Amino acid sequence: MYGTDFLCMVTPSEHLALPTLEDIKEGLLVTKVAAHTIDLIKEGPRERAWEKDIAMAYARRDLDWEKQFELAIDGNRARKIRDARKTESDACSMCGDLCAMKIVKKAFEEKKKEE
Ligand code: SF4
Repeated sequence: MYGTDFLCMVTPSEHLALPTLEDIKEGLLVTKVAAHTIDLIKEGPRERAWEKDIAMAYARRDLDWEKQFELAIDGNRARKIRDARKTESDACSMCGDLCAMKIVKKAFEEKKKEE
């Protein structure tokens, strides 16, 4: 965690060609992921980066897509991917109705009704 106060962005075209706008965007994204990872280690639990990840975990659990886009490192990209591959299910197209989040949520709701 020492020496990570400065990050140098590298694009996919490094030492190959002049980067395109897309190369720069990709390089920035990767750098933001690296910065977030470093913040998680450097700041420790219950600080900004952790709070953000915990909020994202709750948004995932709740299948709250708007909140996930808001918290994502690149929310616009996340929205584009989701919109392009959306199904009838309120989950994502990876597991559809076999979504673990949906199944666990339903199990907890049923358990609550029993109590
Ligand atoms: S469908 Fe699968 S990948 Fe998609 S949110 Fe649910 S558990 Fe995650």
